[in-house]
Amino acid sequence: MACWRCKSSLESEAEFCPLCQTIQPPSPGRTYFDRLGVESCFQQDLHTLVTRHRQEQRRFHPDRFVSKTDAERRLSLEHATALNDAYRVLRDPCLRAEYMLRLRGCEVGSEDKQVSLSPMFLMEVMELREVIDELRGSDTHVERGQIERDVALRYEDILARLGEGLDNNSDNVDELAQLAAQLRYLKRILEDLQSLAEAI
Ligand SMILES: [Zn+2]
Repeated sequence: MACWRCKSSLESEAEFCPLCQTIQPPSPGRTYFDRLGVESCFQQDLHTLVTRHRQEQRRFHPDRFVSKTDAERRLSLEHATALNDAYRVLRDPCLRAEYMLRLRGCEVGSEDKQVSLSPMFLMEVMELREVIDELRGSDTHVERGQIERDVALRYEDILARLGEGLDNNSDNVDELAQLAAQLRYLKRILEDLQSLAEAI
């Protein structure tokens, strides 16, 4: 790889040229973990993610590029966008798990390759949805709170199993994908329950 301005050779993931200090295009081979400079694993410390994101954003802040060329400003924006994407995904355990599965060649969220969930789980989700619909419009704080606690426990349990499988490098990617898909459903139900709480 060479610097696009001074043509001196660069390390493949260099963000700035050490010779002329010019900003380089973001390297497409870098993972979100690389971008934020954190270990590539499921267990993440939120505080570290926040700090790393802020530190990295500062390096690409538009203020630093006001006197630069259009090309450099555009590149700084590309870096900032890539950093924001990395932060948005890694701070959310559900998205982080899906991303880790994607790095292992398994698309959980894509429409054309849906993970097939067990009929039992789907039935359970359907029943939960019916209960939530019945709660709508009624003054039922206690019941809603109880359901939310139950679903939150299931969510935490699945999340823990998924995180463990990912960090222990389980080869059963299908099982991990199942867990990630279940997590997606439960997350949506939790969001529904929370919006219901605001409506009551
Ligand atoms: Zn250069």
